Amino acid sequence: MIESLKNLLGEKNVLTAPEDIIPYGFDGTATLKQRPLAVVFPANTTEVAAIIELSRTHKIPVVTRGNGTGLSGGSVPVAGGIVLCLTRLNKIVELDQANLTLTAEAGVVTQRIYDAADAVGLFYPPDPGSMKISTIGGNVAENSGGLRGLKYGVTRDYVMGLEVVIADGSVCWLGGKCVKDVAGYNLRDLFIGSEGTLGVITKVLLKLLPKPAARQTLLATFAAMDTAAETVSAIIAAKIIPCTLEFLDRKTLQCVEDFAHVGLPRDAEAVLLIETDGHPAPVAEEAAKIEEIARRCGATTITRAANAEEATRLATARRSAFSALARLRPTTILEDITVPRSELAKMIRQVSVVAKKHDLQIATFGHFGDGNLHPTILTDERDTAEMHRVEHALKEIFEYALSLGGTITGEHGVGLAKKAFLEQQLGDASYTLLKQIKRTLDPENLFNPGKIL
Ligand SMILES: Cc1cc2nc3c(=O)[nH]c(=O)nc-3n(C[C@H](O)[C@H](O)[C@H](O)COP(=O)(O)OP(=O)(O)OC[C@H]3O[C@@H](n4cnc5c(N)ncnc54)[C@H](O)[C@@H]3O)c2cc1C
Repeated sequence: MIESLKNLLGEKNVLTAPEDIIPYGFDGTATLKQRPLAVVFPANTTEVAAIIELSRTHKIPVVTRGNGTGLSGGSVPVAGGIVLCLTRLNKIVELDQANLTLTAEAGVVTQRIYDAADAVGLFYPPDPGSMKISTIGGNVAENSGGLRGLKYGVTRDYVMGLEVVIADGSVCWLGGKCVKDVAGYNLRDLFIGSEGTLGVITKVLLKLLPKPAARQTLLATFAAMDTAAETVSAIIAAKIIPCTLEFLDRKTLQCVEDFAHVGLPRDAEAVLLIETDGHPAPVAEEAAKIEEIARRCGATTITRAANAEEATRLATARRSAFSALARLRPTTILEDITVPRSELAKMIRQVSVVAKKHDLQIATFGHFGDGNLHPTILTDERDTAEMHRVEHALKEIFEYALSLGGTITGEHGVGLAKKAFLEQQLGDASYTLLKQIKRTLDPENLFNPGKIL
């Protein structure tokens, strides 16, 4: 297998030495590691298809990898398997201004897609916190969300077409540039969020929007979590859908302040970052209304960005949350539950109860407007007793989220980290259907085996 791969890709695109492959043995998920047989770097779809054919011949599993920023262990290798790293598929193939679409190879970094659209007055809205490093293929495979999800939706809402290599090595196009198309089953949507378990995405056709002409950014601080939650409900009840409605709890905001020096009050219980965008007049009107609602609900301070630089500084408070928290303890476990928005305050309270019960440090931040929270456990994977408590805490957090009608993952995927909880969420019939789909599309179970299911 290794010899065939070297003949196909050239020696330098097949890594096998331990010191070369160790960096590809984990993703952004704490505690999950596995050394692969080899890491390979194809340059195009033809080479990807040839690798998949070889993997079938030799019965060797393939784990597709973008840039390894995943937070559910999706690109952690399988023992004895190959890591198919797509970072050389890094071309933006076409920017079609007549149809407002962009076609990119799967290894293109998300920020480059945003920048290419922005340069011609267009807008690619999905903005995962990792967009400066994650790949568009990884975003599609995880159906990633971002800070603008409340108004603009998630990656799925912008995928019009996909080129995928399937189990027998053939290449399919799913979808296309037609805005309306109901011919056959929607296989494109099946591959979005499939976490590398059904095939390899090699190209992505994305929908773009006209760039919003104006944006206003506000940062509000609160002395109590409930008033922050009430503000969110009141903004939405006032029929305002901001593009961003993000939240940090006290622990997170203190860490962010130490890290980024944004000027946040260290004694606040919660911070909301709110952004509204669109045409200048309604944006100004919405920002004024949001300010009034936050004040009425009991915000202690409200800062409105005076210009783009100030807006970036305020947004940094939220964007640097993960990095800021990761400095506190050796291991950072970033979780990803979502509950109906009406249950947010309850869920946040329960996370504190669980933290106290198991004597753990848990900070929470997230996409409040989407009901998507990231309880982040700051721990040390070398401390077996503490890791045991972490396990119990996570189980209780997931079960409570499910009891509120929530989900075990809003955007990071199931991967390895959450597969034990998926059946509980889906129920027998849906879980069985999922397994049948996997068996049909990947009969030999060679695409990212052991993930999700
Ligand atoms: C600091 C930080 C912030 C983050 N913020 C967010 C956020 O705001 N929102 C969010 O949703 N996520 C976030 N993430 C998680 C992560 O960045 C996303 O899941 C991202 O989409 C992963 O992209 P990647 O290229 O790194 O993929 P990888 O981690 O390499 O892979 C992720 C999964 O996709 C599969 N895969 C990758 N490429 C392909 C392909 N071409 N074809 C088929 N399968 C493929 C892999 O097998 C794996 O299962 C964050 C992560 C970090 C570290």
